[in-house]
Amino acid sequence: MGDDIVLLETVYKTYSLGEVEIAALGGVSLAIKKGDFVAIMGPSGSGKSTLMNIIGCLDSPTKGAYYLEGVDVSRFSKNKLAEIRGKKIGFVFQNFNLLSRTTVLENIELPLIYHKNAPKTYLDRVRQIMTTLGLDKREKNYPNQLSGGQQQRVAIARAIVNNPTLLLADEPTGNLDSATSKEVMDVFSSLNQKLGITILLVTHEEDIARYARRVIVFKDGKILKDTHTP
Ligand code: ADP
Repeated sequence: MGDDIVLLETVYKTYSLGEVEIAALGGVSLAIKKGDFVAIMGPSGSGKSTLMNIIGCLDSPTKGAYYLEGVDVSRFSKNKLAEIRGKKIGFVFQNFNLLSRTTVLENIELPLIYHKNAPKTYLDRVRQIMTTLGLDKREKNYPNQLSGGQQQRVAIARAIVNNPTLLLADEPTGNLDSATSKEVMDVFSSLNQKLGITILLVTHEEDIARYARRVIVFKDGKILKDTHTP
């Protein structure tokens, strides 16, 4: 196990639709090391979202084990999953999912406010992250006053403010033009390289997957290809 942040052992996820059983994941084994930057690709219906939901502690496997930093969370209750998710996982979505009537600063500090043991110095942490992401002059703005790229940077800031073990991103550039996509991917690269944040990202685009150091292709609920880029 060692420095594996994520360790999946023969994970199955089956959905029952009446008589029919759908194997969304058909025995996936996968280890992701601390500091890795992984892109997940594959056609629609190949199991990417199911995988992200399980790794993100939003759902549990039907069969198999999932160790998150060495802890088997595969049989955790919904409440225990939510607790570990709040502590260990940061999420970034295609549609940013920012609160629209809430300022940039308030959006970013949200996860800390929910956190019972947020350090008194949390505002320092928020400001430091805003500076890192080039948002320091935007703290009083509302999301609709920002460009798509800036909004996604706010979402990334919110996702990492808690110092998560793992940053999950679901098509984070899906709503952005190419230039802005590059800008956002440069942010992910820099967080991975400079801060050592472990990133797992789903994308349909080869150009985006190229930013990762490892590309895993899914097909029919299984890993088809797992490539490390030099
Ligand atoms: P992807 O993200 O690659 O498009 P998904 O993980 O969403 O793939 O889906 C994998 C398979 O599981 C598909 O056949 C999909 O229809 C099925 N599936 C996903 N979620 C559910 C669900 N809640 N109920 C029934 N079937 C589902």
